[in-house]
Amino acid sequence: MFNRRKFLQSSLLSSAGLVFTKKNLANNHPSNKIITNDPIVISTWSFGKAANDEAWKTLGTGGRALDAVEAGAKIPEADMNNHSVGRAGYPDRDGHVTLDACIMDENGGCGSVMCLEHIAHPISVARLVMEKTPHVVLVGDGALQFALANGFKKEELLTPESEKAWKEWLKESNYKPVINIEEKSYGNKTTASNIPVGPNNHDTIGIIAMDTKGNLSGACTTSGMAFKMRGRVGDSPIVGAGLFVDNEIGAATSTGLGEEVIRIVGSHLVVEYMRQGLSPEDACKKTVERIIKRNPQKRDDLQVGFLALNKKGEFGAFAIQKGFVYSVKNNNEEKIYSSPSWFD
Ligand code: ASP
Repeated sequence: MFNRRKFLQSSLLSSAGLVFTKKNLANNHPSNKIITNDPIVISTWSFGKAANDEAWKTLGTGGRALDAVEAGAKIPEADMNNHSVGRAGYPDRDGHVTLDACIMDENGGCGSVMCLEHIAHPISVARLVMEKTPHVVLVGDGALQFALANGFKKEELLTPESEKAWKEWLKESNYKPVINIEEKSYGNKTTASNIPVGPNNHDTIGIIAMDTKGNLSGACTTSGMAFKMRGRVGDSPIVGAGLFVDNEIGAATSTGLGEEVIRIVGSHLVVEYMRQGLSPEDACKKTVERIIKRNPQKRDDLQVGFLALNKKGEFGAFAIQKGFVYSVKNNNEEKIYSSPSWFD
């Protein structure tokens, strides 16, 4: 059962551990870091740092948030060392690399591809679904045909390294997706542009931004869980689950065990809590609380992290377990933060 005392304790603890700046000391929500009227980009995990840098090329020169998040998401998609997003992503249990992505703009437009094979940048295909079709979602072969018809190149995405990892997994073929609770490679807090990405089983890049016009957009892209069942789709390409943007209120994205996020339509819920007046961090925490109600015990196989940005430029995160980190870039700072969590 949900334990209210634990909730309060955890609230106090999470607020206590935060870094205060002059600006956020003035805020009613000291747990939030405020940067108003400036462009900002935030993204999941430390590999979000490189994505943010790319997004900043657009945001920092007055460009559109939508262009920024797409450009940013393409960085981990192309990263050969990243086995959880795009090219070089670990395959499903039958050896197919299947990619999921969605994108949302400031007008409530959205596009998504699920279970897309052979295309290295699913986020760009998702954007075309949004901009060139009357639909929101294309899946599997249909998504591939659409991508090819629009000039995307068909490629083999299974790298020798990913194939080796899959063959290793095949020896036991024990279908028990192992969750990445903690970013073990996380180390260099502020300076690194090449933070090493650890041997994570899965992780998603969710990236949300606000541009100089105050418009919000978001993108979310992943290869999903390594060695998943063929056809499995997680939260990441599902609008409202892995990503949600409401230009009047804010935006949110998620990473972790997608099934749990889908069950509560997590990112939409975060935005709805912000609509009710909660700070981004509190909205993420309330949303985590929904998952905790169903899963009150700490589990080795359950991690979810939510990340949110509101219209004022405040941002925050909350995770089920310790170890979720997120990257932030704006005019004042470039930093990787540790998210507060429900369990230590
Ligand atoms: N949420 C992704 C999924 O369930 C994976 C992750 O973020 O780690 O496919």
